[in-house]
Amino acid sequence: MANLNTEAIKQHTFDAIVIGSGMSGGWAAKEFTEKGLNTLMLERGRDVKHLVDYPTTNMYPYEFAHRGQIPYDVQQANPVMNRCYIFHEDAEHFCVKDAQHPYVQEKPFDWIRGYQVGGKSLLWARQTQRWSDYDFEGPARDGFAVDWPIRYKDIAPWYSYVEKFAGIAGNRDGLDNLPDGEFLPGFPLNVVEQYFSNFVAKNYPGRHVISARCAHLSKPNQIHLDQGRAKCQNRVLCQRGCPFGGYFSANSSTIPWALKTGKLTLRPFSVVQEIIYDDAKNKATGVRIIDTNTKQVMEFYAKVIFVNAAAINTNLVLLNSKSKRFPNGLGNDSGVLGKYVAFHNYRARAWGEYDGEMEWTTDGRNPAGGGYLPRFRNVKKQETNFLRGYAAGFSAYRQMQTDENGVGESLKRNLMNPKLSGWKVGSHMMGETIPKETNTVSLDESKKDEWGVPQLKINISYDDNDEKMIKDYQEQMTEMFTKAGFKNVNVMDSKQAPGLDIHEMGGCRMGNDPKTSMLNKWHQMHAVNNVFVTDGASMTSTSTQNPSLTYMAFTARAVDYAVSEMKKGNI
Ligand SMILES: Cc1cc2nc3c(=O)[nH]c(=O)nc-3n(C[C@H](O)[C@H](O)[C@H](O)COP(=O)(O)OP(=O)(O)OC[C@H]3O[C@@H](n4cnc5c(N)ncnc54)[C@H](O)[C@@H]3O)c2cc1C
Ligand code: SF4
Repeated sequence: MANLNTEAIKQHTFDAIVIGSGMSGGWAAKEFTEKGLNTLMLERGRDVKHLVDYPTTNMYPYEFAHRGQIPYDVQQANPVMNRCYIFHEDAEHFCVKDAQHPYVQEKPFDWIRGYQVGGKSLLWARQTQRWSDYDFEGPARDGFAVDWPIRYKDIAPWYSYVEKFAGIAGNRDGLDNLPDGEFLPGFPLNVVEQYFSNFVAKNYPGRHVISARCAHLSKPNQIHLDQGRAKCQNRVLCQRGCPFGGYFSANSSTIPWALKTGKLTLRPFSVVQEIIYDDAKNKATGVRIIDTNTKQVMEFYAKVIFVNAAAINTNLVLLNSKSKRFPNGLGNDSGVLGKYVAFHNYRARAWGEYDGEMEWTTDGRNPAGGGYLPRFRNVKKQETNFLRGYAAGFSAYRQMQTDENGVGESLKRNLMNPKLSGWKVGSHMMGETIPKETNTVSLDESKKDEWGVPQLKINISYDDNDEKMIKDYQEQMTEMFTKAGFKNVNVMDSKQAPGLDIHEMGGCRMGNDPKTSMLNKWHQMHAVNNVFVTDGASMTSTSTQNPSLTYMAFTARAVDYAVSEMKKGNI
């Protein structure tokens, strides 16, 4: 413990500490404070206040110095971030600068980060699907990773709980591999998306193209209005921060809600270096941070600590939390910390054109992004030469096309009267990757960052299973598109490095056996019962769904358990 007097120690002592203020940390703060616990939330980045700190939210295209583009020199200076589609002038300020936050790529890995209050919840595409038992049973059935210590029934009530508060738009589709939730009205598919949905339902038993489910207030309930949020206006400028609170972010929802209780202390500019472990008490007692403004190293103490720094950073904090008892990272008796990292395979795309439905002129403004094709490969039994499967996005749109032919008056006339193109259709793959011992993150003790923390070494790659899955996706989409009457059908493999999917998971996985996993079924460390990990680091496998809804539900459930254990005196 640092040399603090009793009063200072008291001021630095809380019931609960939450590391990270993003998607999952926001939920931890909300749940702890609502249950009456004095909670400290530590965030390495700056504060971003809802409405106040969205500088571009109402800007017109011509008001941007570079008309929305990132200047060439900034692109060159940020090669990793520049590969992410979100890196445009309107959201650049919510993305990290590569040079300020270095890491070691033993193999190419595009690590996309948002270091600020709200984390990546400001930037996400808001796609939200539940897992089913086909996902939780995957590793045990197919013999990879370790068995999940929970099943759908354990998490289902918590999905409902977070969905009601966050606001999820979707239809009740009645699919057993993609359970329905507590939905606000779904956004409708456009005419060509609906055409493809009908075509697939008729011609491919077991395959469905549904309206994508997303965290938007299509029709707010009282609980959303109570948060100060309003109906989504379909502007689809969400990455700027929404002036209506139309989509769910920690900034618009969970953090202000927690602050209203008067129980939350939010401390931005606080990089957590490590969690402090007390050998005598066999507990974590607090955290050590560095204040990024003053460079002062400080300690804060609490009875329970939730690690929500986003999957890879959570691994970093835990690996860097060394003590006599845990020389290889906090709670790492099993030696699996930093291993079995997995992600989503977003490499492949398919596209084509459609010359039907030409009387429809929509060019679309659907915040849900169109359709979603849940996983249909190997769902109930193994049927292909690769393990697991992929989901796919599907959308159809028409674009305004400017005719640049002509000179003088005819050119002006052409420019002033852009024409609507025919229909274009597109799909992207969202594949499951298999967690492998060899896909790792570890510390490079020879390289420290500005805050004295060792840099992370990332050693993650695709494998043969991923290659087979890409091929299958390309074949299946080509077949479905062609049979549906789409023309000029094409597929591609971007060969992008892992990371750009922004769904990194694992490294601190759940499991029943402390010898092969870090966390029990409550996300509590097997070896340190007052430390919980509820972000992507805790994932035993990845399945194909967008992961954030599951992190939120996991977090609310784990806080409920932790508080009940605290009341019983077990923590
Ligand atoms: C462009 C984009 C699109 C996406 N689309 C989707 C989608 O459609 N659906 C979906 O489910 N997911 C999507 N995601 C992923 C989603 O954003 C993440 O799954 C989610 O934000 C993870 O939540 P988290 O709490 O683990 O991390 P974050 O939201 O990233 O929050 C972690 C926080 O911890 C802070 N932190 C890190 N290290 C430390 C430290 N040492 N000390 C203190 N603070 C620290 C960070 O600054 C950050 O604020 C998308 C992400 C991006 C960028
Ligand atoms: S689409 Fe909805 S949530 Fe997104 S910026 Fe517009 S109003 Fe806000």
